[in-house]
Amino acid sequence: MNLKKEEKTNENFMDPLPRIEDYVRRPGFRPVCPPTRFKQTDQVIPRAIRGEYGEDLQEKSLRALPPHPKDRTVFGPTMVRALLWPGCEAPVFKYKVDVKEKKKMSSHIKAFAKELGADLAGITYLHPAFIFENDKDGDSIQLTHKYAIVMAKEMSFERIATSPSHYDHYEVGKTYHDMTILAVHLANYIGQLGYPARASVMRNDTVFHVPLAVYAGLGEYSRMGRLITKEFGPRVRLATVTTDLPLEVDHPIDLNVEHFCQICEKCAVNCPAQSIPYGKEKAEIRGFLKWNEDSEKCFGFWRKNTYQWMACSRCISVCPWNKRNNLLHKMVSTVATKWTWAHRFILFFDDLFYGKKPKIKKVPASYNDYMIEEEDYRRITNEIAARNDEMTKKTMR
Ligand code: SF4
Ligand code: SF4
Repeated sequence: MNLKKEEKTNENFMDPLPRIEDYVRRPGFRPVCPPTRFKQTDQVIPRAIRGEYGEDLQEKSLRALPPHPKDRTVFGPTMVRALLWPGCEAPVFKYKVDVKEKKKMSSHIKAFAKELGADLAGITYLHPAFIFENDKDGDSIQLTHKYAIVMAKEMSFERIATSPSHYDHYEVGKTYHDMTILAVHLANYIGQLGYPARASVMRNDTVFHVPLAVYAGLGEYSRMGRLITKEFGPRVRLATVTTDLPLEVDHPIDLNVEHFCQICEKCAVNCPAQSIPYGKEKAEIRGFLKWNEDSEKCFGFWRKNTYQWMACSRCISVCPWNKRNNLLHKMVSTVATKWTWAHRFILFFDDLFYGKKPKIKKVPASYNDYMIEEEDYRRITNEIAARNDEMTKKTMR
């Protein structure tokens, strides 16, 4: 699709990435001036831990501990996936395979990503704008790879529907755990093909996944600031492998999300922190025009009652694009993708069947069988806060 070639403005600061406007009728985000890189140390959690949002949020951040043992296995100071981080930088085998056809290699890599467990995979150029300037320890990130392979994995519809709860937080962590395993495997496979590769996974990130996923054709940018895919809506988690393996790139896809978000606002209405913007106005953030959530308010809600929830996916769960991936959803999302005029009907029926404020599903009682008692939880988190040790500071940021 080439919708606005004649409107080309020759803003070539995003080369070699394709112009989103050439593929998407109304892009949810687009570069408007040369972008600036972002520091991980400027993300909301490190800032909260440094006390930049006040003592209360700092103290709550330092004592934050997932309450359920499953939750602690996938998040928190002892999370198992941290053991895989040393494998993110793949060793490179001394024999390099000859890539004669980039297209064939791209299909092969995407098929292997799916074999490893990804539900969606796409490839784009790695633009410096999407590489973090530093890591969470403040060390600068040097990454010169040419390509980014972005992968998405679906989260459980039922678990996310309980958000905010420690049950949906466990689902998020479990999906990140799966994504870490698959991204590290894929990076190491590329290393065995003789090319450098780096897995970028949650809490050991080198790149911004959402904009790369948009350029790689996995979905579109939305009002809530997350990726919306045709298959699963926003109910996915992402990981990326960057590499110099010669690949053919994909391009952005047009799902008509921006128009839907213009008239919807369901995530904004249901956000318990009121951190998602209403209205049509977007803001320019580091060179990109987009809707921008108030991450301080969002994170403040995450730390409000950590015995009940450690994070939140309420915006994901209420989004009309978030449905079970069945035939009905496939039909509705296809209609939404094609015809803008159908959006108000879809929204009307979504409100009718699921409510303007959809009910939060209950966490199954049996899930709480081995949950710590609230009194013990308070005692332990108080001890952690009192120790205020370096390990907690490091692992929770
Ligand atoms: S809930 Fe509505 S406004 Fe929010 S991201 Fe989903 S479609 Fe867009
Ligand atoms: S995660 Fe929760 S608090 Fe944060 S923006 Fe989404 S709904 Fe709001």
